[in-house]
Amino acid sequence: NNVCVIIGASHAGVNFAFALRQQGWLGEIRLIDGDFHLPYHRPPLSKAYLTSKDGIDKNLLKSEESYQKGNITLQLGLSVLSINRIDKTLTLSDATQQSYDKLVIATGARAFIPELSGLENASNLFSLRTAADVTAIRDAVNNCLNKRVVVLGGGYIGLETAASLHKMGAKVTILEREERVLSRVTAPQMSDFFQELHAKNNVSILTNKNVTHIEAKGSENFVFCSDGSSFIADCIVVGVGIRVNIELAQDAGLEIDNGIKVDAYNCTSDPSIYAIGDCTFHYNPHYDRFIRLESVQNAVDQAKIAAASIVGQNNRYDTIPWFWSDQYDIKLQIVGLSTGYNNVVIRTEIGEIIKFSVWYFKDNELLAVDAVNNAKAYVYGTKAIKERKLIDKLKLSDLNTEFKLENL
Ligand code: FAD
Repeated sequence: NNVCVIIGASHAGVNFAFALRQQGWLGEIRLIDGDFHLPYHRPPLSKAYLTSKDGIDKNLLKSEESYQKGNITLQLGLSVLSINRIDKTLTLSDATQQSYDKLVIATGARAFIPELSGLENASNLFSLRTAADVTAIRDAVNNCLNKRVVVLGGGYIGLETAASLHKMGAKVTILEREERVLSRVTAPQMSDFFQELHAKNNVSILTNKNVTHIEAKGSENFVFCSDGSSFIADCIVVGVGIRVNIELAQDAGLEIDNGIKVDAYNCTSDPSIYAIGDCTFHYNPHYDRFIRLESVQNAVDQAKIAAASIVGQNNRYDTIPWFWSDQYDIKLQIVGLSTGYNNVVIRTEIGEIIKFSVWYFKDNELLAVDAVNNAKAYVYGTKAIKERKLIDKLKLSDLNTEFKLENL
């Protein structure tokens, strides 16, 4: 009676557990997570779920009965403290031990909190990674309209959180250290678009703002930047990135790089241990390099690959990454990886709603597409990247060319 234990019950861990059962695994499946809640969707935490009054039961990955039906044991509110690879045992936070035949590490990532002087004394300071974070932010912001919120960081999570908090009645300012928002992941034209979008909605984004320290005075915080400016905040939301939860794997002596290193089947350097989701450093065949992704699609894809591999069906991981972001009435879909691009083509559709796409090329090779309210561009972009289609850039930007992949 083989036992498969999964550390981390979120997008990767839960999808893996169900995939493994579906693939015909007859042994025990145990899902362990330090979080007390039934596993839930993370993307809505900064989007619709934050602005709603819903409880987490409205945002679950699977109903409680599904785990029972699948004969999957959930052990919540319990953290794994260490892995003993020789005995194949785990030590848990309640001081018990469990043994495994196959182990899957799906520990994801946690919010990164920078070391800023005064941060430890700040009042109403939050990050956004868990359902508990949302409850705390809602409580702080909902209690009083026009709460002054400073969001540190203009990445996707910072921007989405700002849009949601604005909807909840807060007065929001985003402080971004770089000269533009989303500078690591998008072209300047996209940064400008989001900067203007937030400005139109009365959320100010201030760039080149390197926060140096925070002083709490009563219930107010003073946020100071290196250029001498300061901002008053009733609440601060820190959205400056994540740290990958690699410590368990590292302490167990597994190979680590920018994440837990896995092969094309998501197996680690130990044949009994797999790793999936945000915590992995994996090879992407299309882009011919090792990468780490923070995306639901990657977590789900890798879950399926690992489950198949454990039951002896070797499907290699080979996908084009995609991601999405919702802010106000804008739906952004991103496909591919734009890193290394050296030219972009922008196609703006004429119509009542904002609809455009940014196509990222390295010379003539299409690397990625950002599609704003434009599902067609996202679909065409995905197909063109996968097939390595040579795109006619002039036709792409010419609105007289009907927007169809075969015309480009
Ligand atoms: P995680 O979701 O990080 O889960 C890891 C789990 O492991 C956690 O539940 C944690 O409690 C548990 N764990 C860690 N260590 C231990 C331990 N030692 N013992 C027991 N349990 C442990 N992605 C998109 O594709 N689109 C989006 O729009 C999007 N929006 C997002 C918005 C927010 C606010 C956040 C936070 C993320 C968003 N993401 C989005 C990213 C997406 O949620 C992640 O890529 C996804 O959650 C990764 O799943 P995972 O299972 O690998 O890791």
